[in-house]
Amino acid sequence: DPAQTLRAAAAEVGREAGRIAAASPIYRSLPVGVTDQPPFLNAVAALDTELGPDALLDVLLAVEAAHGRVRDVRWGPRTLDLDLVWFEGVVRDDPRLTLPHPRAHEREFVLRPLCDLAPDLLLHGRTAREWLDSLEPQGVEPAGLSLM
Ligand code: ADP
Ligand code: MG
Repeated sequence: DPAQTLRAAAAEVGREAGRIAAASPIYRSLPVGVTDQPPFLNAVAALDTELGPDALLDVLLAVEAAHGRVRDVRWGPRTLDLDLVWFEGVVRDDPRLTLPHPRAHEREFVLRPLCDLAPDLLLHGRTAREWLDSLEPQGVEPAGLSLM
């Protein structure tokens, strides 16, 4: 049950890293790249944390692993993918952790839930709302489910 997986993961990240301050609704998205697979569910959460970005990424990777994620086909089916989209005050280009996320601004499945929480967030010089308005639709629809 992918919605339950997302809810459990959000609760675990909150518990391990701080506090979930806000959560978007859940969206259903057509797969990008490897298209021969079922739709994904996506959501965005805002986290208050005392951790730095590297320690927070470690928490996200541990929660993914706890849900049985095995890294095989890139962009292929997975039980859970937790990405850091933006971290206050941090801009860096490191393959282990690039911030803001290098592809978030071109993905409707990130921008739509992000705009529910933080439409004015700056990603690569433009707001989340400006990026979303400039995209061709990519098949992202509200799933009618909530994250919390
Ligand atoms: P994707 O999320 O692009 O589908 P993966 O989840 O397999 O791919 O991520 C591969 C690696 O990307 C992770 O092990 C992580 O070290 C790195 N990475 C770089 N920047 C970020 C980011 N902003 N958020 C999450 N992972 C990132
Ligand atoms: Mg990832």
